[in-house]
Amino acid sequence: MRKVVLVSLDAFFDADFQYLRPDGGLTKMIQEGSVCRQVKTVFPALTYPAHVTLITGCDPVDTHVGQNQPYQPETPGKERVWYWERKHIAVPTLFDAVKNAGGKNCSVLWPVCCKNPTADWCFPEVHPLLGENVVLKTLRYGTPLFVLDSERRFGSLRQGISEPGLSDYAAAITAQTIRKKKPDLTAVHLIDLDEMRHHHGVFSKEAISAIQRNEDRLNQIRKAMEETPGMENALLIAVSDHGQSDISKTINLTESLQKLGLADDFGVQSNGESAYFFAKRQNADVENALAVLQDHLAENGILRLYSRADLDRMNAVKEVAFACEAADQVVFSDGLDEGKREKATHGFGPGHKAENCLFAVWGKGIRAGYEMPVMPMRDVAPTIAGLMGIALPKAKGIDHSREIIK
Ligand SMILES: [Zn+2]
Repeated sequence: MRKVVLVSLDAFFDADFQYLRPDGGLTKMIQEGSVCRQVKTVFPALTYPAHVTLITGCDPVDTHVGQNQPYQPETPGKERVWYWERKHIAVPTLFDAVKNAGGKNCSVLWPVCCKNPTADWCFPEVHPLLGENVVLKTLRYGTPLFVLDSERRFGSLRQGISEPGLSDYAAAITAQTIRKKKPDLTAVHLIDLDEMRHHHGVFSKEAISAIQRNEDRLNQIRKAMEETPGMENALLIAVSDHGQSDISKTINLTESLQKLGLADDFGVQSNGESAYFFAKRQNADVENALAVLQDHLAENGILRLYSRADLDRMNAVKEVAFACEAADQVVFSDGLDEGKREKATHGFGPGHKAENCLFAVWGKGIRAGYEMPVMPMRDVAPTIAGLMGIALPKAKGIDHSREIIK
């Protein structure tokens, strides 16, 4: 099995290539390796559904992870659980495929991978709910000795979960694990850029600095690979999950449903720049709701509605009755979110200007300077499996590995 180090640059998209530095880690990967600049993200363009598609080769309709959080009407923001655990994914992952082939894997803050029975070393992405202890929860959801060792060595790099410290910490753990354990698959999720964009805007100076910090982290990880005997044939792969766009107006769709007389039949879950609507009872009239909303698009910040037939074409999860896309500059609220004030966000649908994500592969035997054509995000995992020489039979995407091997 060929070893892979998979690095996710959360919220990196095709408009960002202009900000790469000549000596940056991603620049080097693109010059010496192969890149796809148009990996079309999933619907909705959210971190958890996208990261699950990236490691399964399946869309949300098959993974059953169609949001960061399960729909939890009546539960306020800080008490809502997320899809933290591996058990939420309905199909096999690359970690399972590595394990089946007799290999070892490491995940650092990779979404929806907590309590993963096929993990050898897992630093979990999980948040404490009200009243919970973050240390105990992290130990319970990850691999305890790995978490403790990471904290002992690198704990001083971070201040809680704030950025850029958390991504510096994640990169340091990753480099250390590559040097000491040489896993067959190492996957790390760097959140820095996503956080900067939410807080400061898509092309703020803070976001541009985060792109450059991520390039330094890629250099740090590649150096660990190059300096470690046994890792000389490993591939470095960089991916992303969605872009972002700036927002200036919040629309509370729960209030919209109440005003339009639809609140008895439907509940709403905000995806940021789109929203899901759930039927509250079996004979809820979807046709009527779509017709009523269609007559009130502009005042509710809605660009377009997605019927169930549209959602089927978009490979969206089955339990949603219908959905809608936000107009430019609009973010949706469902009235139960945490009331955070953000300058940019995501969660949009297909055709959005921030939908083009990254897939870059660097290492021995990979075609240099090769530009791959546009592909759906579900093609990433089967291509990684193809490069590693392992089987991911439930994946629905296409394996492009032969295209990029010299
Ligand atoms: Zn994300």
